[in-house]
This record gives sequence, structure tokens and C-alpha cells, in this order.
Amino acid sequence: MKTKILKAAEVIKKSRNLIALTGAGISVESGIPDFRSAGGLWDKYDPAVYATIEAFNKMPGKVWEMIFDMIDLTAKADPNPGHRAMAELEAMGLLKSIITQNIDNLHQKGGSKNVIEYHGNSSRLVCLRCGSDFGIEEYRIFEREIPNCKNCQRILKPSVIFFGEMIPQKALFESQFLADSADAVLVVGTSAIVYPAAGIPETAKENGAVIIEVNIEETVLSGGVTDIFIQGSSGIILPDLLEAVKSL
Ligand code: ZN
Repeated sequence: MKTKILKAAEVIKKSRNLIALTGAGISVESGIPDFRSAGGLWDKYDPAVYATIEAFNKMPGKVWEMIFDMIDLTAKADPNPGHRAMAELEAMGLLKSIITQNIDNLHQKGGSKNVIEYHGNSSRLVCLRCGSDFGIEEYRIFEREIPNCKNCQRILKPSVIFFGEMIPQKALFESQFLADSADAVLVVGTSAIVYPAAGIPETAKENGAVIIEVNIEETVLSGGVTDIFIQGSSGIILPDLLEAVKSL
């Protein structure tokens, strides 16, 4: 384990274009279970019923029952040492960008500046009619009051990508560009089997990047595109990795 961390630290230290790809695993230690896991959000709410854009358009009041729980879960969570270590790697000029599949805003809360979100952010609300957007703090979300647009009165939707919605073009273009130019990729807390996230380590690897993976369990990446697999929780491994980088 120690030698793997040291090896990864050397790659990070030498890199000129390190990017990261993160998923649900990094936020588990912040108290947010993977939506798809037992006890996760989809255990309580069938995403086919509650998390499609069609459902939101047809019965926003019902879908807001799920959204209140989702925002409760994410907005009250704090970043953990894994998020903070990544923010520090960015502040040191080593980590150029984080591409995340998470909606919990924890990278930003942990101090990261350059974050590309595939699936949006649950701390913002958007109006599907007039395009206005608002912070959740402008409404009484925690009192479970369904928010209406201050400009046109339509029920707002969290700025989170629902099933049936497109991943934002800007996020796709930016991450494709990053994957093409990266010389190292830090994959954290994701099995990266769902595209487009899955394409990031693959593309980068084809362009010669070194792939470092930090996950609790081995994934399809571990035996293939991953060069250095470090098994363990990101809240422990990432601070260790940061210390190792600093010691070089
Ligand atoms: Zn509006």
C-alpha cells in the first residue's frame, strides 16, 4: 500500500496536467450514501417514477417529495478529508480540474475551484419556463415549501440532471478536452462504467496518461486501464497521498 501511494505521489508530482474523475464513493464519508446503494435515495424512491424529467413536468409536487429528501441529504453534508485533500492538490497547482458525477456541491464546499459537473448541482434551482436560477437558500426548502420562480411563478426544478435530460454540452466539451490533454488521471469513488464518465480514463489512457484509481473495491477499470490501484476509502487515502506528494 505504502509503495503504491508513493508511486502515485511521484506521478502526481511530475504531472503537468492532472485531472480527476469523482463519483458517489467520495461523498459516502460525508454521510451521503450512493443513491443506488441499499439505504440510498433510490431505495426509497423509484427513480423511474421520481427522477425522470417527464415525471417532473407532469407532477412536480409529487417529485418534490423526493427532491426535499435529496436536498436534505446533500445540502446539510460537509466535505470530508478526501474532498479537502483534492482542493489542496489544486491549490498547489497540481490538480487542474475535477470532473464529478456528484450533485452535492462538496468539492466546492471543500475549496475546489475548477469543478465540472456532469449531473448538475443540488444547491441551485432553475426555472424551466423563463430560465431564471436561484440558490436554495433563497427559499424555505428545509421547511418543505415547494419553491416557485420569483419571475414567472412556475414550480422550480433543482439544477440537477434528471433521467431523460441531456448532460450539459459545456461539461461534455470541457471534459473531453481535459481527457485529451491529461497526462495523469485520478479516479476516485467511481466504477466509471456509465458513459460519458467511463470515456474519461479510457481516452486519457489512449493519449498516454497514467491512471491512478482510489476505490473501496476493484472495478472494471482496476484490471484494465488503471495503472496504479489503491484500495481503500478516499477520506484516508487522499490525505495520505497529499502528504506523500508534499514529502517529495
Ligand atoms: Zn420562471
